[in-house]
Amino acid sequence: RTRRIAFIGLGIMGGPMAGHLVKAGHQVTGFDLFPEPVERLAAQGGRAAASVAEAVADAEVVITMVPADPHVRAVVLGDDGVLAHAAPGTLLIDMSSITPGTSLDVAAAAARVGVRTLDAPVSGGEAGAVEAVLSIMVGGAAADFVEARPLLTALGTTVVHVGPTGAGQTVKAANQLVVAGHLQILAEALVFLRKAGVDLGSALDVLGGGLAGSTVLTRKRAAMVAHDFTPGFRIDLHHKDMGIVTETARALGAPLPVGSLVAQLVQAARANGDGGLDHAALLRGVERLAGQ
Ligand code: NAD
Repeated sequence: RTRRIAFIGLGIMGGPMAGHLVKAGHQVTGFDLFPEPVERLAAQGGRAAASVAEAVADAEVVITMVPADPHVRAVVLGDDGVLAHAAPGTLLIDMSSITPGTSLDVAAAAARVGVRTLDAPVSGGEAGAVEAVLSIMVGGAAADFVEARPLLTALGTTVVHVGPTGAGQTVKAANQLVVAGHLQILAEALVFLRKAGVDLGSALDVLGGGLAGSTVLTRKRAAMVAHDFTPGFRIDLHHKDMGIVTETARALGAPLPVGSLVAQLVQAARANGDGGLDHAALLRGVERLAGQ
């Protein structure tokens, strides 16, 4: 059935996701700090809001897709935020990648005003958002997941309830650990192959067909070979995610010996001015180590 949805944060991911909800027949009111993406959503059949308050006024479901913990806290918990304006009974689905602890704080504050919450971060990158084939990991109450599922299946092909509040973010943190590790090792293999003078295209074709094949290899090989690091997923955001996974693992006493090293390499990429580039630019760090 048609739902009245407020969608806050219409960036690289949120923009196309909100568009898919419009296409699925929902009434989607969008808000972002920048006017351009709000106008783009309106041109696709959505509605434009000039504030969080206006977006949320009439909404049954509120979706947030903003960069990090401080933005979620501002948008949801702020004086003029979602919880100040949402009607009791509203379902708030935060799809940003943030710390599990902030998801728990948001859920507790929401419960005080009768708002239900799900943490539902995503994997699949910009292409996954544009093609509506995201993998979506959801934490929260089972009944709320069942209510949200028809909306989430308009955005992704793998939609899984992974546990209570915060569990979605924990799974996303693990996802980011795996993706960063893959990218780093793929970058090392590319520099190794190039030093040996082997044709990269042929090498990647055969690696992709064997046990070394991966979604990371399939999706990122062209960008790495062409050195086209237009984001995509910015190194700055992956640095944020490596902070989430290393802090969470520390609190749990879970060892991340290789993951911690990869987190340092992501940090070095930022320090070298690559924070605004796609995370495939981890290749540049390996090239710097190789004197290239
Ligand atoms: P983005 O920077 O492109 O988009 C974020 C949007 O939020 C921006 O348009 C920004 O203006 C808006 N925003 C920030 N603060 C706001 C506020 N107070 N009120 C309203 N709007 C506000 O980032 P993105 O790449 O779309 O990523 C969003 C989230 O999704 C992040 O948590 C990221 O880690 C996660 N993610 C990104 C990707 C990817 O490939 N880009 C993939 C999976 C998950």
